Amino acid sequence: MKLNRRILPRGGEICQRDDWKQELTGAFRDVDALLESLSLRRADIPDLDPDPPSFGLLVPRGFAALMQSGDPEDPLLRQVLPLKAERLHSPGLSKDPVGDAAAEKTPGLLQKYAGRSLVIATGACAVNCRYCFRRHFHYADLGRLDDRWARALSRIAADETVQEVILSGGDPLMLDDARLAAMLAALARVPHLRRVRIHSRLPVVLPSRVTERLAQLPSMDRISVVMVIHANHPRELGSAAEQALRRLAAAGIALLNQSVLLRGVNDDAATLVALSERLLECGVLPYYLHQLDPVEGAGHFQVSDKWATMLVDEIRGQTSGYLVPRLVREIPGARSKTRIA
Ligand SMILES: *Cc1c(COP(=O)(O)O)cnc(C)c1O
Ligand code: SF4
Repeated sequence: MKLNRRILPRGGEICQRDDWKQELTGAFRDVDALLESLSLRRADIPDLDPDPPSFGLLVPRGFAALMQSGDPEDPLLRQVLPLKAERLHSPGLSKDPVGDAAAEKTPGLLQKYAGRSLVIATGACAVNCRYCFRRHFHYADLGRLDDRWARALSRIAADETVQEVILSGGDPLMLDDARLAAMLAALARVPHLRRVRIHSRLPVVLPSRVTERLAQLPSMDRISVVMVIHANHPRELGSAAEQALRRLAAAGIALLNQSVLLRGVNDDAATLVALSERLLECGVLPYYLHQLDPVEGAGHFQVSDKWATMLVDEIRGQTSGYLVPRLVREIPGARSKTRIA
């Protein structure tokens, strides 16, 4: 019998599923290997910390391929390259910059704002972003996902004020399809839930994760599904990311983007306007532009509020209103993210 590949989705899916895991296995974890792929030498980056004490280098090869070869200042490279500046201590920087510890209701379940519960689904990520505000989060003590998910879920189910559950991390799309499907199905059974939101950087840094099967997973009758992706620079959105995002949009998932304002990466109006325009081409609207959370190790990325406000005013003067992200900062204890501009 002649086999028609198109009517054999299972085989295709297995292939697709393995693709992203394999890609992740092959990700750069070694500074020299990454530099070599970009035709750079250690000497080109005087502030390099080739062996950081924690939070090592992790960069998928597809993401590295979007970097400009030979440019030590490349904005994508700056986001992932460990520098000696990370070892600087400063009184304004903290290991828990946004008050996560105080907001933790059960292990990995954060509740800061009305109607929304955030679940740290996993500590794993496909990329280590040097400015990550959870780079010191106690992922290792969280315990088994099964146990903490059961506790989180029963707390969500018992609290009728919770309308939205946010799957965050780490990166929740690092979980495999079966696990995600089970979590989403459990959420769909909670009668007072109206929205599920997934915070993920994988459509950008590991687009092969977004298989057709994944895109179909979150469709739930009663519940709106929103995905907030994370891109900081227009060049992060190559054709593979665009395809992944279009696939998610086609499955009825509303797509928003959050960025972090980063010195030397995206702290100019032209870059941010180009980012918004590129996002829209991929079916995504800009949501938040975060002022950096003052996490230990990331002080060198900080941009002043004055410059940040000026930037957003400049963007507003240059482009459509819906392409202007909301400039916010997270202040521990506040009722919402705090709007700066
Ligand atoms: C940022 C955040 C949210 C979401 O806030 P929105 O303003 O609705 O995007 C929810 N819970 C926690 C703990 C957060 O940090
Ligand atoms: S993808 Fe998000 S959670 Fe993971 S390291 Fe980057 S900023 Fe942190």
